[in-house]
Amino acid sequence: MELWFTENHSEEVRFSIKVDKQLYSGQSPFQRIDILDTKEFGRIFTLDGYIMVTEKDEFIYHDMIVHVPMATNPNIKKVLVIGAGDGGTVRELTRYKTIEKIDMVEIDKQVVDVCKEYFKQTACAFEDSRVNLYFEDGIKFVKTKSNEYDLIIVDSTDPIGPGEGLFTREFYKDCFNALNDDGILVNQHESPYYEMFAKQMKRAHKRIEEFFPICSVYQVHIPTYSSGHWLFGFASKKYNPVNDLDAKAWNDLGLETKYYNTDIHVGSFMLPNYVKDMLKKSCEEE
Ligand code: SAM
Repeated sequence: MELWFTENHSEEVRFSIKVDKQLYSGQSPFQRIDILDTKEFGRIFTLDGYIMVTEKDEFIYHDMIVHVPMATNPNIKKVLVIGAGDGGTVRELTRYKTIEKIDMVEIDKQVVDVCKEYFKQTACAFEDSRVNLYFEDGIKFVKTKSNEYDLIIVDSTDPIGPGEGLFTREFYKDCFNALNDDGILVNQHESPYYEMFAKQMKRAHKRIEEFFPICSVYQVHIPTYSSGHWLFGFASKKYNPVNDLDAKAWNDLGLETKYYNTDIHVGSFMLPNYVKDMLKKSCEEE
């Protein structure tokens, strides 16, 4: 008998991976959590039937969500991470000796517990002494902060369930206030390709642009995410991610990365015309 994991990438398109074994299935107060073993992508972790992380391609997501802002401003010292329960974002951040504090706010403790047990590839840096874990709603947490962080990374689920509020105007305003004058906000920004994701991505861009003087998106190729074409948002009070990149400073750190390099940093901000068009139109409509 064959076992397959299938995720809807649009109403009319499905993506399937052959499963060797289901290792864990549980329902937390927020979402259903599954861990599966597969031959092609190694171990995979899903929430409510959507792939969050696979062993084979997680490096792309975590390299690009962390190293792009860190290379733009090498003086980042205080970081807030929202979501990110699998640990991959914190793993990459802890590689920078210059970072002094990482506050991570994950609403679902069960995600962290399950990943610590089944996903050691990503959940391997929570014990770093600079990491403070808070199991609460990131939307409420950020409201209590002002002028505090150099960088906020929103490593969230899609805008459904507990992640919905992480795509609202009010949340982006609170992030702006929680950042200091050097502040950078990077967020999981959905995909431009299929309509249901593109709608969310246009809306997020329009909302972030209301608060941040510098606001753009950059692209990555993630094979297991819908259409494979995924975006991150980069918003900032001061730093331009392309003009302010200090490639030499980042390369001098000698960090080994499998996806990120300072050429792809610049290249990822060069967008296809249809994406440029969507971003332009998002400013005209809601
Ligand atoms: N790389 C992933 C992706 O986009 O597919 C996202 C990874 S991470 C697992 C997303 C996490 O965001 C989940 O563990 C979820 O519990 C958390 N999350 C969702 N809403 C949240 C909220 N309001 N506050 C804090 N964490 C939240």
